[in-house]
Amino acid sequence: MNLVIFGPPGAGKGTQSAKLVKEFNLFQLSTGDLLREEVSKKNDFGNKIEEIMKSGGLVSDEIINNLIENKISNPEYKNRIIFDGFPRNLDQAKSLDNLLKKYNQQISLALNLKVDNQILVKRITGRVTCSVCNKTFNIFFDPPKTCDLKDCGQRKLITRSDDNEDTIVKRLKTYDEKTFPVLDYYLKKGIMKNIDGMQDINAISDQLFTIIGAVRSWLWLLDSYNRIFSKIKFLIYGSYSWSKYSSK
Ligand code: AMP
Repeated sequence: MNLVIFGPPGAGKGTQSAKLVKEFNLFQLSTGDLLREEVSKKNDFGNKIEEIMKSGGLVSDEIINNLIENKISNPEYKNRIIFDGFPRNLDQAKSLDNLLKKYNQQISLALNLKVDNQILVKRITGRVTCSVCNKTFNIFFDPPKTCDLKDCGQRKLITRSDDNEDTIVKRLKTYDEKTFPVLDYYLKKGIMKNIDGMQDINAISDQLFTIIGAVRSWLWLLDSYNRIFSKIKFLIYGSYSWSKYSSK
């Protein structure tokens, strides 16, 4: 199944996606990560993207859709993608539906992590990432004392260039104006689930595991039913047309 994880910047989409990847063998597709990869190439294209990211605005839909199609078209990721940070506006949501249809797929579930704005600002300004193991810490809530990898003794902690108070205010405004309406799009499709993103990290993931497990079971049942139904249809109509053919 493919799913989308929503939430304003700092809601914990990346943290929870990483847990879902492990639990359900999914592939995490973060448009923010794909863009940062382009920025790290330090060419004209990457520099232009970096400017937009630093302004707190959105990169053009054309660039995003190209990056996304590259992944959706890969059979290795078929029906096991968790979209993190995408779609970010209504046009992207519609393009995503069309793209998935082209590759015979769909979105089965949209998860929305709800967090108050004051908490978001603290979460983002305190966010630091280990340049060795990529683990994310927070200087207020989860100071970087221990690390999973031995080599991280020499760890250099990095702060994302768009994780400063000025940009955050703009990113939150962009979220409210452009991304918030997308929630309604999935709500109308009947596949949206809201989750309290202010709980403890493990409590949130437990809740997500339960929701995804239930949707997975339901999809499995539906798929089995469809397969049995088409077999019965084949037996009835297939043998009927055969008897019609053989009686001539
Ligand atoms: P994120 O890592 O998801 O917080 O994204 C960081 C920045 O990358 C955003 O503030 C945007 O400037 C840009 N970005 C990420 N995803 C998208 C998207 N789907 N559409 C447009 N811009 C995006």
